[in-house]
Amino acid sequence: MLNLTIPPSAKIIGANLKHATQASLTKALSLRKQTNQRLSTNMMLERVRISVAEWTNREPTDKRIWLSIRKKDISRGARNFLWRSLHDLYRLGKKWLHLEGYEERASCHVCDEFDSLDHVLTECRVPGQALIWKLAKSLWQETGRPWPEISLGIIRGCGLSNYLLDNKRPDAGLNRLFLIIVSKSAYLIWKIRCEWKIKHEGRLNKCPSIPEVTAKWRSAMSKRIQFEIIASDSGRFKRTAIPVQLVKQTWGRLLKTEHLRGLKMRDITGFLVGIGLDDPP
Ligand SMILES: [Zn+2]
Repeated sequence: MLNLTIPPSAKIIGANLKHATQASLTKALSLRKQTNQRLSTNMMLERVRISVAEWTNREPTDKRIWLSIRKKDISRGARNFLWRSLHDLYRLGKKWLHLEGYEERASCHVCDEFDSLDHVLTECRVPGQALIWKLAKSLWQETGRPWPEISLGIIRGCGLSNYLLDNKRPDAGLNRLFLIIVSKSAYLIWKIRCEWKIKHEGRLNKCPSIPEVTAKWRSAMSKRIQFEIIASDSGRFKRTAIPVQLVKQTWGRLLKTEHLRGLKMRDITGFLVGIGLDDPP
């Protein structure tokens, strides 16, 4: 049986209500939802464009932004996270207010503010984001190159950095390193936040601790470095191997060795343990 209860939004979409069927209303509402989604995505793209232009003096097109978050150098989980965040697909903040029984999820349990990706990734006082960005910055500073102020635009545009070699050509290793550090750090912040907020329902006694967050970040980075060293073995992985030269360009300066293949997991972890926790974040 047709349900012809007319939603208020039907007036906005201009449906002829007398002759409306459930199917036509559903179609019209779906179109409206798609239009809102597109507007939201365009706003997200614009934020990336502005942030990247301020940072690199180059204004990326939409196509370059989309291509940049599909790079294989970003882990699959982080790629999916960036893609969904650019489409504004996460249910965060005010989106929970329309779901009866889940309204309390709209706000951050610690900061008493509406949740948003900006809040989670760059503002929240729960141990996680500030500490991870401090660690990421300390690691990057080993390269001696400038680190931008982290914003949502820079996170989503992390594949559009423009570090150059002395001869003014793009520094492939450094740009790849920035992409990996930022995408991995942002995705880890998101995963830690989801575990606390959803699995532990935002309980204050379950807030992630500083040692816990530090250990998770070090583990994530160590595993990535080790994965790249193993995956650069062309004898074993043939054509699917990551070019060994690229791995050296990415990690060699940071780990201060030309002989990455000789490194063991304990060497990598040892290096990361020395990365900056002099001051609390
Ligand atoms: Zn918060």
